[in-house]
Amino acid sequence: MPITIDRAAAVVTRTGVLTDQTIQINGGRITAIRPADAAPRPADGTTVIDGRDRAVLAGWKNAHTHAAMTLLRGYGDDMLLQPWLQERIWPLEARLRPEDLYWGTRLAAIEMIRSGTVFANDMYFNLPEVWRAFEDSGMRAAVGLAMFDFHDAEQRRAIMEDVDRLLDRYAGSDGRVFATVAPHSIYTCSGELLQWAARRAEEAGVVFHIHMSETRQEVEDCETAHGMRPFHWLDSLGVLERVGARSVAAHGIWLDDTERRLVADAGMTVVHNPASNMKLASGVLDWAALRDAGVPMMLAPDGVASNNNLDMYDEMKLAALLQKVHTGDPTRLPAADALALAAGELSDAFATNGVGGHLAEGVPADVQIVSLAAPQMVPLHHLDSNLVYAANGSVVETVIVDGEIVMRDRQVADEAEVIRQARRCARELTTSA
Ligand SMILES: [Zn+2]
Repeated sequence: MPITIDRAAAVVTRTGVLTDQTIQINGGRITAIRPADAAPRPADGTTVIDGRDRAVLAGWKNAHTHAAMTLLRGYGDDMLLQPWLQERIWPLEARLRPEDLYWGTRLAAIEMIRSGTVFANDMYFNLPEVWRAFEDSGMRAAVGLAMFDFHDAEQRRAIMEDVDRLLDRYAGSDGRVFATVAPHSIYTCSGELLQWAARRAEEAGVVFHIHMSETRQEVEDCETAHGMRPFHWLDSLGVLERVGARSVAAHGIWLDDTERRLVADAGMTVVHNPASNMKLASGVLDWAALRDAGVPMMLAPDGVASNNNLDMYDEMKLAALLQKVHTGDPTRLPAADALALAAGELSDAFATNGVGGHLAEGVPADVQIVSLAAPQMVPLHHLDSNLVYAANGSVVETVIVDGEIVMRDRQVADEAEVIRQARRCARELTTSA
């Protein structure tokens, strides 16, 4: 059904903020952005949304997450990484049932939609349930089965079979939800598995998604095992050559100059996860060095267990503040750059899947409408500043994905039922522990 956003006070585009505009959406795309007085009248049957006192901007793109970890929110905090994983996270993950994956992902999707996110790049278990949950949510999503073999040939064969089966079933889908190949990391995957994953991603024409250089330990262990740093190890396996610009590396904290050049040449996207990196004390991504090297970048909250929410507004602010305090330079990562990161404007990794960066005529209609009457948005000296430093997800009123309204005036379909089921699943998971 066609949608008109009538007389939007502000529309954020790549070239700047336009005022008093009317936006028309049809067939999943933005068909017109015109000065309100010059816009044609909406056709009969059009859903008209009042844009007065509101800003319209591209929805956020969450480029790295483990959606169903919402059920583990707050289950283990303030712990060292290894005890946190071994005592809290892995034992609970080992007991996740298919319905936990479904309702945990639905809960994540509602939280994301309510804070203006239109797309998530997910890596987790039980892909069919996660896939179904994202389809039911109305969001766009890239879904990958987390692969690891812990250097064991038997495990490797099993996970390869699983991924082959899933790619046969899902790789042809070019809809809102689509498949990726997602080896977990270089320390949980053997070189053989990483090579196989890159080849399968290339053959299937899907994005390759991995955690890279999250901790200093990971780099040291790679140097000990392979005599080279992590991105050189990936390169020596031929991975970067195969997956190139259709690849996404989460974290990307501990890179040296030679690795940044390698990543930039390959066109691989580095995803910044500031909250997770701070919470687990992993380190600080070097935003300026990556930018100067020409590395494509995106932003993400990671899984809820290491965040503990999925609000990309928080993530923008944390990204900006972290760069400033870490470098002692308050001009680092200014608001406009934080917005570009969150909107996905600095990467084409998912472009062929219809995940666009900015608002313009002809692009997919993935839009958030923000109240300018929310207290955090008043006064409006600078829209960029308010969005990054003052706002949080509560300023978002309406979200449109692929031309369909998924939240209107903060109402999301099925929300009460999803919350009821997620509470039940989390209770059953922890009481059977
Ligand atoms: Zn992660």
